[in-house]
Amino acid sequence: MNALAIPSERLAALRRQESERFVATHPRSMAQAEAARAHFLFGVPLHWMRDWPGPATLAVERAQGAALFCADGLRYSDFCLGDTGAMFGHSPEPLAQAIAQQAERGLTCMLPSTHTVAVGEALQRVFGLPVWQLALSASDANRFLLRWARATTGRPQVLVFDGCYHGAVDDTLVDLDVASGTTVRRPSLLGQVHNHHAHTRVVPFNDLAALEAALARHDVACLLAEPALTNCGLIPPNTGYWPVARELCRRHGTLFVMDETHTISTALGGYARAHGLEPDAVVVGKAVAGGLPCAVYGVTTALAQRMVRAKEAAPEGHSGIGTTLSGNALAMAALEAALTHLHTEANYAHMLAIAALLQDGLVKRLRAAGRPWTVTRLGARLELQFMPRTPRHAQDVRELAQGELESLTHLFMLNRGVLLTPFHNMMLASPATTPTDVERLLAVFDELLVALAD
Ligand code: PMP
Repeated sequence: MNALAIPSERLAALRRQESERFVATHPRSMAQAEAARAHFLFGVPLHWMRDWPGPATLAVERAQGAALFCADGLRYSDFCLGDTGAMFGHSPEPLAQAIAQQAERGLTCMLPSTHTVAVGEALQRVFGLPVWQLALSASDANRFLLRWARATTGRPQVLVFDGCYHGAVDDTLVDLDVASGTTVRRPSLLGQVHNHHAHTRVVPFNDLAALEAALARHDVACLLAEPALTNCGLIPPNTGYWPVARELCRRHGTLFVMDETHTISTALGGYARAHGLEPDAVVVGKAVAGGLPCAVYGVTTALAQRMVRAKEAAPEGHSGIGTTLSGNALAMAALEAALTHLHTEANYAHMLAIAALLQDGLVKRLRAAGRPWTVTRLGARLELQFMPRTPRHAQDVRELAQGELESLTHLFMLNRGVLLTPFHNMMLASPATTPTDVERLLAVFDELLVALAD
């Protein structure tokens, strides 16, 4: 144990203080949480909403730009931004307008809307790939792509990284059993009775030898990967990792699929585009239509041709791909507005500058306080990691992370008007985030460092 580690009694005492402060300052959120228990499991519309640290989940009255207001009338500088859904800010004007206009012209018809051609051109312009399909969530888009990958290659296996998260997709909800090197069902998964992990191989991130060994049997349809892992802390790829990994996939006939749902924070068009990785397919959800439920997946012309052949070779009937509301008229209108007005160089220039300012401020404070912790940044997304170095794979995070300190940091900041993403201390800068928001976060961080040192 590090000499500078915070004793757990100290953490527990601070957590108690912060919980009391939350209760005293959030009577309306507390009352809503209690009343909602009558009709919602755990008192919330989605059970994860209870996973934020704190005695009750904050009830949101409204969110605009980079600010969020709770039922108690308190304002927050929002660095969570709906865990990326609102990465371009809450309800940006051009998006709100497009949604309002379309709301009067039909929401869903199970037919392509007149926005379709413009959306296709904009998707290619922003993300580089020529052929697209829509889904309602990144989870769906990933699930559908796995089907296409298996259907087009005729191979049963898919490959993911240990510590990955690609949404509610059974095939990917697996872990690496480090001792045996085998794939196991993620223990937290509810109600899964199928032996789905028999068809998923899992390897540690940043380990080219393990990747090659997993591909060598030529039975892997696709590698589904985030370009940097963002869901077990933020784990960037080693320098030179991706070009070699990409080449290995090519050599072994495995499709190279990039899930850019979070790494879209890197730069306009996402990480793979910015780094010239030439994926066979890309998935983007959450922020792609500015937070309106919508996800897209794009493929190369070569893969599109294989998809057409696979579909034509199958008997008539259910493909198992798609849902009724996918590509609905409202989503198409929002997508066109988002691709035109939100996915812009100017927005990214602002987001990256703000994130750099925040990183700089956090690093200076950690140095001044003598805390051996790390800040890792990927464009507009950064993470305060209570560990001595940037992790290289999921096992590093399992060994080094300090969960209690993360939760305390989160609640401490929330009580002082700053919202971080729960589960790990992720911060995201939007086009609406200002240097004043950054100063507010840094001032609260100063307070936290003092409280931890007392
Ligand atoms: N891919 C990645 C990389 C994600 O982080 C997530 C959600 N955090 C998803 C897919 C799934 O997104 P959704 O929950 O919107 O389906």
